[in-house]
Amino acid sequence: MNTNPLQLTRDLLHYNTINPPGQERDCARHLGKLLETAGFGVKYHEFAEGRTSVVATIGGKQEKPPICFTGHIDIVPLGAAKWSRDPFSGETDGDRLYGRGSTDMKSGIAAFVVAAIKLAPHLKNSPGVVLVLTASEEVGCEGAKYLAQEKLLDRAGAIVVAEPTANYPYIGHKGLIWVEIETKGKTAHASMPEQGDNAILKMGKVIDALEHFDWKHQCGVDCHHVMGKPTMNIATVHGGLNTNSVPDSVKLTVDMRTVPGIDHVHLCRSIESLIGPLGTLRKIVETPPLYSEPDEWIESVFEVATPFIDGKPAPKTIMFSTDGADLKRGYRESSGGAVPTVIIGPGQPELAHQTDEWCSIARVDQSVEIFEKIMRDWNGI
Ligand SMILES: [Zn+2]
Repeated sequence: MNTNPLQLTRDLLHYNTINPPGQERDCARHLGKLLETAGFGVKYHEFAEGRTSVVATIGGKQEKPPICFTGHIDIVPLGAAKWSRDPFSGETDGDRLYGRGSTDMKSGIAAFVVAAIKLAPHLKNSPGVVLVLTASEEVGCEGAKYLAQEKLLDRAGAIVVAEPTANYPYIGHKGLIWVEIETKGKTAHASMPEQGDNAILKMGKVIDALEHFDWKHQCGVDCHHVMGKPTMNIATVHGGLNTNSVPDSVKLTVDMRTVPGIDHVHLCRSIESLIGPLGTLRKIVETPPLYSEPDEWIESVFEVATPFIDGKPAPKTIMFSTDGADLKRGYRESSGGAVPTVIIGPGQPELAHQTDEWCSIARVDQSVEIFEKIMRDWNGI
């Protein structure tokens, strides 16, 4: 069986899982087959045609729940700039492995799959390991949300998200919520604006209200001791058709990054009441904030990672969001308790989504070591 992490990453890079449209099925089946051969129980779940996530479990029959490792199979589009390397063939140059998904995050998946396959013979009668390989993380964590909502996740006592962190263990990230606000009016000839109702003027008032949004007053929280402050960015405005008409529709989108303690439903209601009859609000995507206060298990992960980074890690959170938040929500419901979650993987965070994305091959080997140790510690083997 192929348990070389570089080769497995290259095999995964060959699958074009650019999202949209995603089409993760073939890549998911490739991983599923490998795991099945190694003794894992493998289940495939599709939230839409060809949009396949994999849940692979070994052990898991003891009182202590298994440990979950997760990664997404989809990748982002190549972007407008031309690549100087082939994005799908897995070209290498010294320590660098090039390709779309080399950093984000097929190398991370390869690393924990290789570690789990290596340990498989010892995991059968242990608390176990569950691998969750998701579809469509890059478009609103659709695969992970489906698994959580449809109750397709069984049990997990802790989660490792192998997103690109250059092997630094992070203990969470902000939540993300995008909303669209629309103001409506009545069109009229621009020479007689009094006969119309100007949607742009209404949107101006909405923007003014958003600019003065008070997180503490509206949501009760305006700072987190590790993550810092929540943010709001007014990102796009589209409205008006021609200069000689009164505009009757304007749409605006807002990106908000939230911290623990801010409930997204409450946040949307606060904005709705702030803008009142001026407009309507529609939620586009959301991922809840993810945070785990360092506990004994997280401290043990810090210790495992220490030799591979500059000194002992400090509690920090990462800028991007992950499937971890939805999976943690799914596992908390099924397991009852808190599910500490760490984000750690071999990719270079600054290279995610970039042209000529690459990953350090040495780091992938280090991740295998780290993941293997974490699995061993959890299972006492
Ligand atoms: Zn990612």
